[in-house]
Amino acid sequence: MEKLRQTLSYLSAQDLEIVERAYQYAYSAHLYQTRISGEPYLNHLLNVAQSLAELKMDAPLIAVALLHDILEDTLVVEKELREEFGDEIVSLVNAVTKLNKYQFEDNITAQAENWRKMLLAVVKDIRVIIVKLADRLHNMETLRFQPPDDQKKIAAETLSLYAPFAHRLGIYNWKNELEDLSFQILYPEAYYNIKGQWEKRSESNVKNLDEAAARLKEILAAQNIPCRIFSRPKNLYGIYKKMERQNKPFSAIEDLFGMRVITDTIEDCYAILSLINTRFKPLDGSFTDYINVPKANMYQSLHITIISDKNALIETQIRTEEMHQRAEYGIAAHWRYKRQAEGDGEGARRDLKNITAEYKLDWLKHFLEKQRETSDSIEFLDSLKSECAFEQIFVFTPKKEVVKLPLGATALDFAYSIHSDIGDSFMGAKVNGKMAQINTKLKTGDICEIITRKNIKPTVNWLDFAMTAQAKTRIRKYLREHNLL
Ligand code: MN
Repeated sequence: MEKLRQTLSYLSAQDLEIVERAYQYAYSAHLYQTRISGEPYLNHLLNVAQSLAELKMDAPLIAVALLHDILEDTLVVEKELREEFGDEIVSLVNAVTKLNKYQFEDNITAQAENWRKMLLAVVKDIRVIIVKLADRLHNMETLRFQPPDDQKKIAAETLSLYAPFAHRLGIYNWKNELEDLSFQILYPEAYYNIKGQWEKRSESNVKNLDEAAARLKEILAAQNIPCRIFSRPKNLYGIYKKMERQNKPFSAIEDLFGMRVITDTIEDCYAILSLINTRFKPLDGSFTDYINVPKANMYQSLHITIISDKNALIETQIRTEEMHQRAEYGIAAHWRYKRQAEGDGEGARRDLKNITAEYKLDWLKHFLEKQRETSDSIEFLDSLKSECAFEQIFVFTPKKEVVKLPLGATALDFAYSIHSDIGDSFMGAKVNGKMAQINTKLKTGDICEIITRKNIKPTVNWLDFAMTAQAKTRIRKYLREHNLL
């Protein structure tokens, strides 16, 4: 608790009192309870609260972190909690409390219904998912104490749902941690292989990086441009995905390291960029301006890759402190600005409006709306996974209409995304004018033309050729209707 108190120094004395009360309450309710690891249950609650305190979340949310398992795991009932802490805290605790798994026929149904319940609450109050992510982060950190089968199940759910959710909300450091912790459990061989090679290579790389950083620091100091520079290893799972995607061995992956330059203003960002362009050797075509054109999750930065003296590639990101906060903590940082803005001037409030407009979670509302009719749990979870899958590609029809698909989508997925009848009668596809396979993976910029025949019908193996939930759902529907499944 001492560490948490220190991190919470940003709270007022009055706010701190709420946290202290929640702590005392949780302390007595969970007394003598231990986790599988043998440590007191309270440690888990303090860890979750600590993660949220590091994001400078407000007092009610820190209290919720301390109370989040109280309805699920202790004798305390909702009414008592409400009398003690009021509606705001109780409705948040309720939203993160899992539905009792015995009311469902199986695990998948329980999992689907828990997600459905939580997402409905998230639409009303985004803080619910922030507590849930912090909870999952600590559960993943202590996962080794669970039985191996449970470890795999939990890691799979983390990798397919929690990590993409963190990504979608722009909380990159949680996304990276959740991915690497799951990666280690799901694919231990690949994990340790990459980790070992990464460590071997990091020595020479770090030297290159340090040299480039020192030089840049000197140049910027001479120009009186304020900056902080630090190096940044990619997360291991990110390297693994890149190897898979590009079908390359570890030795062929070049941008393992990067540097981050953090400065005060947007003008400074562009000034630094032009200094890099004149004083270093930038890689042709490597510049991307995410300041002018932010990513969908509001990420902003300038990206440029430098070729070092020893021909190593150094991916460089240039951003302001605020962009940095947002890049690390995503929606959590926005929300924090919002809370601050409420007490601040009109300008701050207006700014905030622009930021939160992007974060109304319309996609989530839309998704839940569409899924209201779906009673099939597997379909619900599949759709949620592809909805969360953040990486998208843009493929064109022969008429140059854009079709948005998740990364890894095939020609068959493309056909189904145009119309279910086109999917059902898929005979072949031309990608950029050449005949392609039914399971050819599409890339951004491809022009895809689908050839159909009336007498063609979906077969069971089509389920292996499709990766989008939309296509799979439709294929399953057809197979079921024709008693083929
Ligand atoms: Mn928990």
